[in-house]
Amino acid sequence: MKCRVCGKPASINLRSYKTALCEEDFIAFLEKRVSNTIKKYRLMEEADRPVVAVSGGKDSLSLWYMINRIGYAADGIYVDLGIEGYSGRSLGKIRQMADILRRKVYIFHVQEALQRGIDGIAKAIRRPTCSACGTIKRYIMNRICIDKGYTLLATGHNLDDEASALFGNILYWKKEYLWKKNVLLEGKEDHLVKKIKPFFLCSEREIAAYAIMKGIDYIYEECPFSKDAKTLTYKGILNGIEESSPGTKIMFVKGYLNMVKEKGGEKEDGREGRYCLQCGYPTFSDKCSFCRLLDRFGTGCAVEFDQYD
Ligand SMILES: [Zn+2]
Ligand SMILES: [Zn+2]
Repeated sequence: MKCRVCGKPASINLRSYKTALCEEDFIAFLEKRVSNTIKKYRLMEEADRPVVAVSGGKDSLSLWYMINRIGYAADGIYVDLGIEGYSGRSLGKIRQMADILRRKVYIFHVQEALQRGIDGIAKAIRRPTCSACGTIKRYIMNRICIDKGYTLLATGHNLDDEASALFGNILYWKKEYLWKKNVLLEGKEDHLVKKIKPFFLCSEREIAAYAIMKGIDYIYEECPFSKDAKTLTYKGILNGIEESSPGTKIMFVKGYLNMVKEKGGEKEDGREGRYCLQCGYPTFSDKCSFCRLLDRFGTGCAVEFDQYD
């Protein structure tokens, strides 16, 4: 198979675009696609100060690398969950990328702030690990963005993540989540940062290929707690459909976004105008769930960050 652009031997076959490309042209193609997505959906403006939520995995590190490369200077944020072995290795990959990009990365250590790792916290409050993790990550990332003056938080969610989540929400008609997912979630000045997903039209396979071609060194193992069997099943089913009808995943996600647009965007989430009495950030009750964790386990919340200038 030959590259559609230059005629050299192709490195990747993109059936959903009915094309095959060599390494160099694939990199250019994917960067252009993300760049177009950012412009078309107005994810970033020139005046924005973006920061990327990094985990050490291929999606977030590729996103961090790529958006810096295509002209958006972005720092990183990492929440170290204190998972033995795994968190340390992830942080190593992140520091390495920060050096390559010469960008700053903010690091929050759960173990130091709350005297235990994420599994210890989850057990103590009798909640699933992923839900405790979500609470902490959402809070810390938003807080760092607002405190440090970033206007956008970019996450590495890809097409497969979005399509499988959407599939699950439709399958069980989870109305409470269904219409809230979006490529861009508006923030609230001084309280809630705007969130964007620049990779939402890039498949996992495309991002993995990009990471390998670019020599991006990421952590291969998944988080030991993220054994969500359902998500994997949905991804498998959607890939099966994609196999026989290339382009279906993109149509599925794009069609959803058009429907959200027609419906007039996301609805209020119950935090409208409510702020935590302790920290002043958005909450569903008088005190936010992070401050409740601090009350119970906290030592005084320190946010450590490394700076590369
Ligand atoms: Zn080529
Ligand atoms: Zn609070």
